[in-house]
Amino acid sequence: MPLLDTIIDEWAGITFPRPVVALGEFKPTNGCYWCGAEMQSDVVCACMRARLHWSRVIRLGAYEEPLSDCILGGKYTAWKDMLEHLGAMLGRKLRGCVPPNSILVPIPMPPIRRCFRRINHTGVIAKHASLTSGIPIRRALWRKECMPQASKSASERTLLHRNSILLRPLPMIKGRNAILIDDVLTTGRTLEVAANKLKSARVASVRVAVLAVTKMSQNGKKM
Ligand SMILES: [Zn+2]
Repeated sequence: MPLLDTIIDEWAGITFPRPVVALGEFKPTNGCYWCGAEMQSDVVCACMRARLHWSRVIRLGAYEEPLSDCILGGKYTAWKDMLEHLGAMLGRKLRGCVPPNSILVPIPMPPIRRCFRRINHTGVIAKHASLTSGIPIRRALWRKECMPQASKSASERTLLHRNSILLRPLPMIKGRNAILIDDVLTTGRTLEVAANKLKSARVASVRVAVLAVTKMSQNGKKM
């Protein structure tokens, strides 16, 4: 990952490349309307047989370079400019493709991890998506301390406890169209738990907006 090496080298010197430079030739692409996966032409998406917990996935692209390196850099080296830039790109994609009365709900980060990372990445993404799309943010969820999802295998991630993400008191989201904001959609387990919590607060609908969707092989394994 040459770009990631550059990001880490730059981070050691506390300067970062400009987001547009790091993203290079990257252009947003649409995946499957329902699950966000990369579409192969003339093949029906595997999600036709799945039970999805949201009505649509809006994404910037597949989880591959240079986008993947930029997301990793944003999260782990607290590269705020990059997360702001990607959040604004996501906000431009959201304009006109979500219904009125929508709200952005960032996937929360456990408090101790937030301290260590020095950045709440989904919060930064949601803030800048909100600024460019005009859709308000509602921080309706909070999260208990638990192992980060990125350190687990795909099978362990599916075991994420349904009470690891909880509704805040008085979330005030009843009847709204919720758009969950996360960085990467992998197994979708975190988003599923969050979507079910929002539904229990009687939102009108749940959509998902992410920076990238991991490519999965036919048998559902992370590639
Ligand atoms: Zn699909």
